[in-house]
Amino acid sequence: MSWSQRIDAALDERRAADSFRVRQSLSGGNGRLLQMGERQWRNFSSNDYLGLSRHPEIIAAWQDGAARYGVGSGGSGHVTGYSEAHETLERELADWLGYPRALLFISGFAANQAVISALARREDRLVADRLSHASLLEAASLSPAQLRRFPHNDMAALSRLLAAPCAGQQLAITEGIFSMDGDRAPLAEVHAITQASGSWLMVDDAHGTGVIGEQGRGSCHQAGIQPELLVVTFGKAFGVSGAAVLCSESVADYLLQFARHLIYSTAMPPAQAQALSASLAIIRSPQGDTLRRHLQRLTARFRAGAAGLPFQLAASETAIQPLIVGDNGRALRLAQRLRERGFWCCAIRPPTVPVGTARLRLTLSAAHQEQDIDALLEALNDCRE
Ligand SMILES: *Cc1c(COP(=O)(O)O)cnc(C)c1O
Repeated sequence: MSWSQRIDAALDERRAADSFRVRQSLSGGNGRLLQMGERQWRNFSSNDYLGLSRHPEIIAAWQDGAARYGVGSGGSGHVTGYSEAHETLERELADWLGYPRALLFISGFAANQAVISALARREDRLVADRLSHASLLEAASLSPAQLRRFPHNDMAALSRLLAAPCAGQQLAITEGIFSMDGDRAPLAEVHAITQASGSWLMVDDAHGTGVIGEQGRGSCHQAGIQPELLVVTFGKAFGVSGAAVLCSESVADYLLQFARHLIYSTAMPPAQAQALSASLAIIRSPQGDTLRRHLQRLTARFRAGAAGLPFQLAASETAIQPLIVGDNGRALRLAQRLRERGFWCCAIRPPTVPVGTARLRLTLSAAHQEQDIDALLEALNDCRE
């Protein structure tokens, strides 16, 4: 098969399975509303959980940073890309989450790749929850270490895998809140199991950071644990973009030597780091508490209303509220009907989720109002098949 034939065959296969992905360019909006040309939708598919992406203070901090530092960082942090804005943000993150150090990355995807590829050697074993994010599973399967996956949140399986003999070191990998299901990992138990087996734990808390726990410190703080490696991302509740790894002094120094994504890649713009500091200040403040409480109330309102609808609601108390519909075509039709009624929702299909569990992944935001939730419930009721 030639390159072209192979590519065309792969595309045909996706189309036949109703799993062909396309993008649509928006002209504006985020949080509560989206715009495309003249049309407007209520947005139920962004990860802007606190509605901070349009917060005036964060926008002003970014503008101020751009005026001071310019728009780009000019290089890797090891050369000239590391500014006072980056240093300040790292110190603030470490203080907020109670770690000795924080290291910034341009994305959560890069952070996960960097950490796993810098740490894992051939004799090691990585033990990951089967529903872990693609960035974690891909990094783990590309690494020279052995990768074992355990059934979602199955603690007996995790213990069993970690108890098997291993010539090197073991790293358990899981998430705080799972991105496609909205449920949580039993972190206290996961931590106890890793401690007992002498392995390290890496938690990706992309969806918990900023959203849950005191001052929005996330899933680990709420569970009373401190994993050796905590990954937080800024494209979700922070309303911006980027990520950080929280760790010990020596792990931070090690990553600065061996994490290729830090060494051979342009650092995030200093202005972005400044915007992130402004976002963090809001997340930690009473204003952050108000936003989190509002989001919790909206979530409870949605779940109470959705319980009466003929859709399978996931066991999630978080802002991620998937409706599992099973079949790809059915998920697409439901998303399409909601779109016609003015609601922007995305159908999530395999391979992002297991085959047969296509779903409408609804995400709520503190930018929503109660009337948005009520209108969504009404539209869902109109869309029953
Ligand atoms: C979104 C997400 C990532 C990727 O983070 P980006 O900053 O968007 O690259 C990693 N892990 C999880 C669990 C996520 O949900």
